Amino acid sequence: MGITKRDFLKIAGVSAIGAGAVPASKAIAGFKDQVGPNKEALTGERWAMVVDVRKCPEGCDDCAKACHFTHNVPEFTYNKRHEIKWIWHEKYVNAFAVPENEGEYVDKATASRPFLVLCNHCDNPPCVRVCPTQATFKRKDGVVMMDYHRCIGCRFCMAACPYGSRSFNLKDPRLGLDHTHYNKDFPTRMKGVVEKCNFCAERLAVGKIPVCVEACKHGALAFGDLADENSQVSKLLRENYTVKRKPELGTLPMVYYIVR
Ligand code: SF4
Repeated sequence: MGITKRDFLKIAGVSAIGAGAVPASKAIAGFKDQVGPNKEALTGERWAMVVDVRKCPEGCDDCAKACHFTHNVPEFTYNKRHEIKWIWHEKYVNAFAVPENEGEYVDKATASRPFLVLCNHCDNPPCVRVCPTQATFKRKDGVVMMDYHRCIGCRFCMAACPYGSRSFNLKDPRLGLDHTHYNKDFPTRMKGVVEKCNFCAERLAVGKIPVCVEACKHGALAFGDLADENSQVSKLLRENYTVKRKPELGTLPMVYYIVR
């Protein structure tokens, strides 16, 4: 007698439960003494960034260069469709304007100057809600992460992100790296997965601030915990008028801009 589809699903379900339930404790037991939080790690309840546009000189790209080197972001400059970006500059109209009002009453200097943009690590991230595999997820400290191994390349997250903060590896990203000059401590990605800024989660884990903040010689970038009222970001928000990108969308971005 042949096995029916219903029988197969029953067997598969039981096997999956069996496979998941029993070995878990054994597997964890083996790692008990090896895995633990790094004592040096920077911890926070709500990480945020403040970009002081007044201190960000036009033409300076030190932050983006440092980020892209640190994270092995490939360079495919000859074709916009292949471009991968974690942090970059956008014109006002792309960074802040809403479709109903494309910045028509903005002064010329503001309209033509570039603004630094990156993933906003939104408190209410639409990208996370639409991901069918939980490849993108929000941590307790607010960092919106990517698990490249879970990403199936459906790009729902890219469609959901209203800031264009995500890039898709249409080509093998390793072909866009300088193999004599790349960061061996950060994983390279594969063709067919989405990537974006991770607020330097790998650096926070070892007690370092994001590399873009470290690389900025002009003091235009600050990073810290908004839940800590003594942090630099909390102080900057208290003392300055700040704006966020497209707040009307309700995504609650955690990247703030001081513009005046
Ligand atoms: Fe997601 Fe885009 Fe917000 Fe980043 S900026 S958390 S990718 S919706």
